[in-house]
Amino acid sequence: MNYRHAFHAGNFADVIKHIVLARILTYLQDKPAAFRVIDTHAGAGLYDLDSDEARRSGEWLTGIARLMQARLSNETVALTKPYMDIVRAFNPKGELKAYPGSPLIARGLMRPQDRLVACELEPKARKALIGVLRRDEQARVVDLDGWMALPAFVPPKERRGLVLIDPPFETKDEFERLGEAFSTAYAKWPTGIYVIWYPAKSRRATDALAQLVARTAAAAKTPGKCLRLEFSAAPQMDGAPLTSAGLLIVNPPYTLQGELKTILPELEMPLGQGGAARFRLEVPKPYP
Ligand code: SAM
Repeated sequence: MNYRHAFHAGNFADVIKHIVLARILTYLQDKPAAFRVIDTHAGAGLYDLDSDEARRSGEWLTGIARLMQARLSNETVALTKPYMDIVRAFNPKGELKAYPGSPLIARGLMRPQDRLVACELEPKARKALIGVLRRDEQARVVDLDGWMALPAFVPPKERRGLVLIDPPFETKDEFERLGEAFSTAYAKWPTGIYVIWYPAKSRRATDALAQLVARTAAAAKTPGKCLRLEFSAAPQMDGAPLTSAGLLIVNPPYTLQGELKTILPELEMPLGQGGAARFRLEVPKPYP
C-alpha cells in the first residue's frame, strides 16, 4: 500500500466528495431516527496542509483554498455551509492549516444517536485516525480490509445511513472489485445510501462501473435510484495528476440532484485549472 491521501487532501475531488457527503448527512438529520455512516476506506482523518506531502503536491491550493475565496450565491453558501463550517472549525484562526477527511466531516454532522464506523488498513493512517477520534464513543475505527468489512457491516442495526466507498485505486482490478463489493452489499441492504468515488481517467472503465451500479440498483425488488456526477477541473492528460473524478450515489435523497444543480455550476470557476472546469450530472443507464 503506497497510497497516501495526505498528497490529495482538500483537492478539487475531496471538495466535491465532501460537499456531497455533507448534503446527504444534512438530509438524514431531518428525521430523529438514528443513522450510521460506514466509511470503508477512511484515511487519516485530519490532514496538515503544512506537511511535506501537502506542500509538495499543492493540490489543496486549487481545491479548498479556492473555494474559501470564491464568491458564491446566497443559495450555494447556504447549501455548502454544513461542509464549510466543519472545515472552518478545524481552522479557527481563519488561515487554512488543516483539512478534515471524510470521517471528520461525517462526525461533524452526527447527532448523539448517530454512529460512525471507519475502516483503515494502513497502520500510520489508522493510528492517526484513532488519535483524532480518541474517546469518541460514537465512532469506531477498525483495522479491517474495507472490502471485507463492507458486506459484513450492512445492514447496520439503525437500518438508515450511508456507506462511503472511497478506495485508493492503486491496483488495476479496483473497478471490478468495487462493482462486486457494491453488488454484494446492496443485495444485503438495498435501502442504504451508497456514495462511490472513482477517478475518471478511462471512459470505458467508468461507464462500465456506472452501468453495473445502475443495473444492480434497478434489479432490486424495490428498484433503487442512482445519480452520476463527474467533475473535471481540467481535461485529463495521460500520466498527469488526476483532474477528473466521479461519484455514483445510490438511493440519493430526493433533494440532492436539485441541490447539486445549484452548487456545481458555481464551482466550475473556482475549481477550474487553467480555465473553467466542467461537470456532468445524470441518471446513469443500466445498459450501454
Ligand atoms: N475517504 C477519505 C476521505 O474522503 O477523506 C480518503 C480515503 S483515501 C482515498 C483511501 C484510504 O484507504 C487510504 O488511507 C488507504 O490507506 C486506505 N486503504 C487502502 N486499502 C484499504 C483497504 N483494503 N481497506 C481499508 N482501507 C484501505
